[in-house]
Amino acid sequence: MSESKKIEKITGIKGMNDILPEQSAIWELFENTVQSVLKSYGFAQMRTPIVESTHLFARGIGAVTDIVEKEMYSFEDSMNGDKLTLRPENTAGIVRAAIEHNITYEGPKRVWYQGPMFRHERPQRGRYRQFHQVGAEALGFAGPDSDAELIVMCQRLWDDLGLKNIRLELNSIGDAHERQQHRAELIAYLEQHKDVLDAEAQRRLYSNPLRILDTKTPAMQEIVNQAPKLLDFLGEESRAHFEGLQAILRHNSIPFTINPRLVRGLDYYNRTVFEWVTDELGAQGTVCGGGRYDSLFTIFGGKPTPACGFAMGVERLIELMKLNGDTGATNQCDVYMVHQGEQAQMQAFVLAERLRDAGMDVVLHCASAAGIGSFKSQMKKADASGASYAVIIGEDEASKDLVSIKAMREEAENNQTTLPFLEAVDFILDAIAGHHDDHAHCDNPNHIHNHH
Ligand code: ATP
Ligand code: MG
Repeated sequence: MSESKKIEKITGIKGMNDILPEQSAIWELFENTVQSVLKSYGFAQMRTPIVESTHLFARGIGAVTDIVEKEMYSFEDSMNGDKLTLRPENTAGIVRAAIEHNITYEGPKRVWYQGPMFRHERPQRGRYRQFHQVGAEALGFAGPDSDAELIVMCQRLWDDLGLKNIRLELNSIGDAHERQQHRAELIAYLEQHKDVLDAEAQRRLYSNPLRILDTKTPAMQEIVNQAPKLLDFLGEESRAHFEGLQAILRHNSIPFTINPRLVRGLDYYNRTVFEWVTDELGAQGTVCGGGRYDSLFTIFGGKPTPACGFAMGVERLIELMKLNGDTGATNQCDVYMVHQGEQAQMQAFVLAERLRDAGMDVVLHCASAAGIGSFKSQMKKADASGASYAVIIGEDEASKDLVSIKAMREEAENNQTTLPFLEAVDFILDAIAGHHDDHAHCDNPNHIHNHH
């Protein structure tokens, strides 16, 4: 490489984040908690491709929505001209796959997913162009019991994650017929206030007036608050469904407020819609949104299949965990292996494998560009690793089939012992077990044997 030539760095894409090693612990804590909570309700994970045919989203989400109008990463496959889109959400993909593989053939199915979603939005706190969602879909369930189960499951997840101050907002947007009746009155009402509507609302007045209700434009708040409420247009069945859901939530002591303006961004919802909201994240306070979408299967050409689901924003929830003081488990290891000399390195590899066989997390010191490093610099690394024990194999130990073990968290004068190679695994296992047992092994004279 010529010295004069400076090579330009290639950076990541705006709005798409790298999750660095220091953050992995809290992501894993989140993911593990999600996995165990969803499993405890009988949900099975599904993984669908992150790329789908553009038609799928255009048809499934609704043409007059933020997502389809302006947020999709769509492109043509340069090989064959297929129109493709990076998934902006995963309900469409799940339903597509459910129909394609007829997964509800034997009856309703509970499924969940996790992974990256892509929307071309203005990046800001809590809003990214690649972000992650966890979602659950209850496919084939028609009653409010299923809606309630999803909500109860969310509540358990917040509890298990230690998240407080997330409140539930609930609404019913009825069925297509009821929305049609409401729509006529809503348009008539909004026409009377046309001067107050912003450009987007004017544009959507006849194509998607319901969406105007969740506008964030301050000047429009007053008129949307006074707008005709869908709740007043619900027929008997929709009302019974909504009442049924509320009864189960009350019985499970889940507080909620009814927000008549809650309509959700996606067009395919009917009856139940809900959002979990917090005040702790500024403007991007919705951490989870969901609802019922009984018509989506038929929109996609499948058999009529009632369904209900939710999607949560992982970045927002992890930010909430951090605000809560949560950092996740640490990346600390149990043992750091320090070695000097070729024979010692070979033995260190063997011993590290045996310790891992016994279930321990072991970091084996490896050479950097500067070489393997002195004994002293290796011990610094051992210290920084957070290991409970350093296993030390110097040239002297290696030639005698011995290893030294240093307890990193104990006082300097009696924290190191030397013993035969073959006894090292048992010794460390006992020591770690003893350590968990209220430092019991500190009293064991075996452990007090200065070496270096
Ligand atoms: P918003 O009104 O905030 O744009 P939305 O209605 O578009 O939300 P949904 O499509 O319901 O959001 O997605 C479910 C959840 O996914 C949201 O409640 C949010 O937590 C998260 N989410 C949506 N878009 C983004 C994004 N661009 N960046 C990070 N998280 C997001
Ligand atoms: Mg959005």
